[in-house]
Amino acid sequence: MPTGRFAPSPTGPMHLGNLRTALLAWLQARSVGGRFILRFEDLDTGRVRGAAYQTTRDDLHWLGLDWDAEYRQSERLDLYAAALTQLDTYPCTCTRSEIQASVQASAGAPHGPEAVYPGTCSDPAKRRPDRPAVLRWRVPDETMCVTDAWTGERLCQNLEAEVGDFVLRRGDGVYAYHLAVVVDDFEMGITDVLRGADLWAAAPRQVALQRALGYPTPAYWHVPLMQGFRGERLAKRGGAPSVRALREGGTDPAILRAEFAVLLGWAVGEKASLEELLDALRQRTAD
Ligand code: GLU
Ligand code: ZN
Repeated sequence: MPTGRFAPSPTGPMHLGNLRTALLAWLQARSVGGRFILRFEDLDTGRVRGAAYQTTRDDLHWLGLDWDAEYRQSERLDLYAAALTQLDTYPCTCTRSEIQASVQASAGAPHGPEAVYPGTCSDPAKRRPDRPAVLRWRVPDETMCVTDAWTGERLCQNLEAEVGDFVLRRGDGVYAYHLAVVVDDFEMGITDVLRGADLWAAAPRQVALQRALGYPTPAYWHVPLMQGFRGERLAKRGGAPSVRALREGGTDPAILRAEFAVLLGWAVGEKASLEELLDALRQRTAD
């Protein structure tokens, strides 16, 4: 059964960019008669705000969205622990500045947007038992390619050269986003992952983890980030009104739905129902 999801981090009020992602994920799933799941990504307990769970639900309901099941990652730690035991990992005690320094020493300035972990601790002699260790995954020396269903773009990455062995569990025991997301998408039967384009660069990493764990790869739909919409800058920067503020201020959700649609280049009236948006999306997919 087609299954989509919205996976917010309950760290504060939702912004319009988050709400638009939720709307599109819901539309994508429902347009093919699929299930829709709400998953709170709340592993980083230090950043979680307890009130955000209910505010998020209220925001989604206000726009007309519903879901068939709800989960919290913080209640699923055993699953992440079990997956971790199936992967080739090693403890790493390097500090950020040590990694930065060795990257600079080896290849000059990093060419990608992120520093590539040079594998220092894959040599056990370089580990420091006096420091807390993160667990890194020994990434395969393979090129991983992902094709995006929304943009049609294709992204290929050699993880060893472009990313390096990345962290699956932090020094404080918190499981990393990449691990949890891959385990959950599999366990929840997610067939379609629709999310913001800021996570596009993470897709090859997640596909590599899926392969290593024997999971199928879902379809990926990365939607461009919203810019300049109702004062919304980049996703989470301050200043933009929260969804809650709009909701409580009496904004008509039908107008907001229409504004989201116009932003995507879909022809709708001044107000739009979810049915109209479903039609617009089906139209886009058929073209
Ligand atoms: N929790 C992530 C976020 O709020 C989304 C993860 C995903 O959709 O894969 O940015
Ligand atoms: Zn290390």
